[in-house]
Amino acid sequence: MYYFVSPIDRLVKAMDRYQDEGVEPFVEVKGSDAVRRLSEKVLALVRAQELTLKTLKRQANSDPLTGLGNRRWLQNAVSVEINRAARRGQWVWVIAFDLDHFKLINDKHGHAAGDEVLMIVAEATQRQLRPYDLIARIGGEEFCVVTVDSSPTFGFTAAERIRVALEAWNLRLQGTPTQITASFGVHKGDPSVESFADMLRKADNGLYDAKAKGRNLVVESNQTSK
Ligand code: GH3
Ligand code: MG
Ligand code: MG
Repeated sequence: MYYFVSPIDRLVKAMDRYQDEGVEPFVEVKGSDAVRRLSEKVLALVRAQELTLKTLKRQANSDPLTGLGNRRWLQNAVSVEINRAARRGQWVWVIAFDLDHFKLINDKHGHAAGDEVLMIVAEATQRQLRPYDLIARIGGEEFCVVTVDSSPTFGFTAAERIRVALEAWNLRLQGTPTQITASFGVHKGDPSVESFADMLRKADNGLYDAKAKGRNLVVESNQTSK
């Protein structure tokens, strides 16, 4: 038996699927001139809406200055890592770090120089990490790295590597050699019992200790997960 499905019916069906399941409509536009123009218009509007949504999602999840993900992005990305680490019995290392006396850089060299430093920090940090480690700019001059590993010292060593890389960066601001340092808090999270919020809070406590102990330091949070 032959069913005749009109171009309008096909368009309506495609739009229903788009509305219910998010499947982008793809229909061959046929029919009379008016039907074709209407179909083309609807499909063009959907495409434009999808592009806008993609741009908005990217903007909502990333930091335009450094190109890193932001806190919201990290919170989403980390849940996959935590589940995987729990299945594999690995640690979820959370490293939080904050630049030392960053306000002085802005005061001395201007906000644009401060922005440049933030970009350099993002790059220098990424160089010390594996491609699949997570790094985000979670505050003005605070960053967070999440790295999953089985070794009981992995995260501490990674933080120490980043600390040394920043300290050794050959930076000149307005012709003046300038050293940047940061203070680090590290927490070895147990993904079977701790939420990411717990882990980050504990890493942050280590960071405050590092500041209090004189900065340019890595402090591992001594709060155990159990
Ligand atoms: P501490 O060692 O205690 O962390 O001192 P600090 O000076 O780094 O900390 P404080 O919180 O006093 O100052 C942080 C500064 O970071 C102030 C703010 O203007 C600057 N900052 C935050 N976000 C940005 C940014 O996007 N660009 C620039 N250039 N500066 C920023
Ligand atoms: Mg700071
Ligand atoms: Mg800060």
